[in-house]
Amino acid sequence: MLFVDKEHIKDTLRDYCVQEGFALVVNRSKELRYTTVCADERCRWRIHAARLADGHTWAIKTMKQKHNCDLNLVTNPTVNCEWAARKLLEDIRANVDIRGKTMNDLLWDRYGVRMATSTLYKMKDKAIKSSKGVMMIPTQIYQPTFKGLIDGCRGLVGVDGTHLKGNFGEILLSAVSLDGNNEIFPVVVAVVDYENKTSWSWFFHHLKAALTASGRSDWTIMSDRQKGIDPSLDQVWPKVPRRYCARHLCENFKTDYPGVLMHKLFWSVVKSCSQWTKWKFDPTLCNDEVTNNFVESFNSTIGVRRIAMVRHATRQHLSQQWVEPCICPNIREGEIFDKRV
Ligand SMILES: [Zn+2]
Repeated sequence: MLFVDKEHIKDTLRDYCVQEGFALVVNRSKELRYTTVCADERCRWRIHAARLADGHTWAIKTMKQKHNCDLNLVTNPTVNCEWAARKLLEDIRANVDIRGKTMNDLLWDRYGVRMATSTLYKMKDKAIKSSKGVMMIPTQIYQPTFKGLIDGCRGLVGVDGTHLKGNFGEILLSAVSLDGNNEIFPVVVAVVDYENKTSWSWFFHHLKAALTASGRSDWTIMSDRQKGIDPSLDQVWPKVPRRYCARHLCENFKTDYPGVLMHKLFWSVVKSCSQWTKWKFDPTLCNDEVTNNFVESFNSTIGVRRIAMVRHATRQHLSQQWVEPCICPNIREGEIFDKRV
C-alpha cells in the first residue's frame, strides 16, 4: 500500500485504529522510517513503513496484523481534538450551534467512539478556527439587479467593510449605490476572512468587472480611509474617481483641531453649494451625498441578503406604478437624506 507522504500514512493509521478499536504507540519516527505498535503491551500488532526512493512516497514494508488485545476501546486516546475536528468539520460548519451530545452521537454512529464533553467543545472551537482559511464568497450581481443598477442608479458607489456577528468572525464587504430617488440600492456583497489589501483587491476586481460590463463608465467610488482600500484601487482600478466620506475626514481633523469651531467650519464647507464652489465638482456624478452613511446603514442591518432582495422587489413594484415623467418623489419633495433604512 502506497501513501502520498508521511502525514498521509499517519492519518490513515489513526483512522484504522479508531475503526478497529485499539490505540497506537509510535515506536520510531525518522526521516526514512515509521514504526508503530499496538498500545496494549501484550499485543503483537505492528506496522513498519518506509519512504521510497522518489523521496516523497511512503509504503508499508512489514505488518503483523493479528491483535492479542481486546480491540474494544470506546474512549480511544487516538481520538483527540485534531482528529475529531477534521471528522466533524462539515457538521460544525453547517450548524455552529451544534450541541456536545449531538457531536458525540455523530462520533458514536460513524466511528464507535466518544469524547469527554469538555474536549468536545475544545474540538468544536478548533474546527471553527480551522474553517477560517482563505474564504471569499464570490460576489455576484443577478440580472435584474444589474439592470436596475445600470438603468436607474447614480454613479456613486459607496464601499465599506464590517465585522459580521457570529462564531466565524468574518468581514462583510459591500458596495451600495443610490437609485434615482436617492434611496439605497445594494450592488454587491462578499464575505472574507480579513479586511486587507488582498481581500479588497479581490473585491474591487469583481466590482469593476460588474460595473463596467454594460459599457457605462461614470462610476465614482466613495469610502472611508480604511487601510487597504486606496492601495487596492491603485492596483485594480486606478482611474476610477474617488471620494472620501466627509464624516470620517472630520473625525481625522479632530485630532489636530479639537473643538466645535472646526466642526462647524468643516460642515459649512462640505455642504456649500454656491456657484463658486460648484465649478470644482464632477458634473457626471450628480449627487449631494457627502458621507458613507448609506453603506453603513445597509451593513448594520441583519440579514443582508433577504433585505437586499425585498428592497429590490419593492423598488421594482413602486417604479412600475410611477407615472410621473421626470423627477423622483424624494427629490421633488426635498427629502433627500432623511428616510433611509
Ligand atoms: Zn492490539
